[in-house]
Amino acid sequence: MKTYEFKAIGIVHNPFETTEDYRKIKEKLSLIEVFDDYSDALLGIEENDYLDIVYYFHKSEEKFQTDTPTSPDVLRGVFASRSPKRPNLVGVCTVKLLERKGNVLHVQGLDAINGTPVLDIKNCDTSMFAYEYDNNPVHQGKLKTSPRIDIRNEIHSWRTESLMIKAAQMHGHFCPGLAMGIMAATYAMNKLEAESDGMEDLLAITETNNCFSDGVQFVTGCTFGNNALIFKDLGKTAFTLTKRDGKGIRVSSKNESRQVVREAFTDHQNLYKKVVDEQNHSPELVAAYRKSALDRAFGTLTLKFEKLFDIKYVDVKVPEYAKVHDSVICSVCNESIMKTRALKKQKDEYRCLECDGSEFKLLDGNGIRVCKP
Ligand SMILES: [Zn+2]
Ligand SMILES: [Zn+2]
Repeated sequence: MKTYEFKAIGIVHNPFETTEDYRKIKEKLSLIEVFDDYSDALLGIEENDYLDIVYYFHKSEEKFQTDTPTSPDVLRGVFASRSPKRPNLVGVCTVKLLERKGNVLHVQGLDAINGTPVLDIKNCDTSMFAYEYDNNPVHQGKLKTSPRIDIRNEIHSWRTESLMIKAAQMHGHFCPGLAMGIMAATYAMNKLEAESDGMEDLLAITETNNCFSDGVQFVTGCTFGNNALIFKDLGKTAFTLTKRDGKGIRVSSKNESRQVVREAFTDHQNLYKKVVDEQNHSPELVAAYRKSALDRAFGTLTLKFEKLFDIKYVDVKVPEYAKVHDSVICSVCNESIMKTRALKKQKDEYRCLECDGSEFKLLDGNGIRVCKP
């Protein structure tokens, strides 16, 4: 049989010399020292909350045993257990990364004793099966009748961190702007005791098309697609939430809110200066910068609401429900067009604005503008 050789990339330090009480080992802090030859491979590791550690049972005198009693009357094959009596004496353990200090990782949850050689470290990835964890059939059934129930529960419990993680699935990154949108919208939803069914009974009027608005859309459920999002192109980090009765609440960011965020996260500010202003792109600095950006985004959620926002109860002129319009066919491109956007050329002949070379309105990162094809 072919044999393979492994090299240790690091070593475990903790006060445990035997595995007698492995539960206690897991509870306590362990340090994983990564050897100098491999320290560059730690780049960016601090962005992970959880890691998989692969190690060698160097002190084990256990002989491979095909089965093992996992409790007094249950016998399991070794591959169906975490028994140490393994053919290759390789241990795998998922740990929580508490801190990185240079080439030393401070972890919790490791079940290896002092002096254990570490063979490999990987970031933890359960995304492939997250779908199965998150969606049991009972819950799936509930979601089919009440698609926003999870979000609603999070709003009522003010679980802004969890809301931001979900909103970022749409927004694509974490930033203070998204955090502020989540905070403002969670506040307004709770104050108005509002719930969104995506049928325009609840309306959000946003005054900016930046990151903030994605937090607002996710939490309120008022979106571009369901016609419950109204956009006032004012360039203010503010939004109003209103029900059909026009009794709304406007949440606007204080003009000093940027300063408040900046002062709360000076680490990020210093790294920003080095990486962005001074263009120092050393890998360690960039990794630290990325980590600090993440900390700042999630940290923003913990800042005092009153320090960031003003609120005002307002009367809103609520627009009529969006009408359903007929469609007609463009005689040039042959595509279907909402009738209100079609140009009638002659009896039963229509053109879309683009084929006709006519002006139309366009919303992009610069706001709304008239566009000539
Ligand atoms: Zn953003
Ligand atoms: Zn056309």
